[in-house]
Amino acid sequence: MFDPGKPDGTNDTLKIGISNDGKPSLDHFYKVPARCGIAVKLEKNQTIQIENRFGTQVCDFWAFNSHNLHEHLSMEHVHTSLGSVLPKIGDSLVSNTRKKMFTIIEDTSEGFHDTIIASCDHHRYQELGCKDYHDNCVDNLRMALIAIGKKAPAIPSPFNIWMNIPIDQNGRIEWLPPRAKPKDIIKLKSHMESIAVMSSCPQDLTPINGENCKIQDVYFKVFN
Ligand SMILES: [Zn+2]
Repeated sequence: MFDPGKPDGTNDTLKIGISNDGKPSLDHFYKVPARCGIAVKLEKNQTIQIENRFGTQVCDFWAFNSHNLHEHLSMEHVHTSLGSVLPKIGDSLVSNTRKKMFTIIEDTSEGFHDTIIASCDHHRYQELGCKDYHDNCVDNLRMALIAIGKKAPAIPSPFNIWMNIPIDQNGRIEWLPPRAKPKDIIKLKSHMESIAVMSSCPQDLTPINGENCKIQDVYFKVFN
């Protein structure tokens, strides 16, 4: 039977949890190593700042209500709430029960993020011709939660920070390199106790992580 929380393979994500329960040291810069994922516990009114140190790296982002993992950040509900597929500074990101989970309070990039594309997974890399296991964002989400003693009850659609997927007038989409700059940051203020998960997307077969397809670390910190 399909188990949404069970990874299709493994990588270092299982070993690099920031603490037993994902609680961060405040104001401490943590690394999400290239190709891996990290889960972090957020209190209400804390802010998480995520940094694209090299300007080319996409960060898949998910969040779950700490007290009920079945409630999670939902891009489909964000589309309805914003009337847009491009969240901007001042916009709130809502859950699948339409509660505010975050507000974007700062974004130094031009604001090109993706909210429509599913995270890369084992099956996507098989479609792209991989014969062996390839690191992937869905497994990073699953393993990041396992690393803090939790299990994903579902795989929500991600907020793909810095992922550049333009949509043309005919509804067609393209997979292009990020339009971010080195050291771009985004700050998300939390409205709910949650577990946020980030993955340094390991997609190196399309140029979404830059023309040279080099996967980089992502950095983040949490502060009051
Ligand atoms: Zn990915």
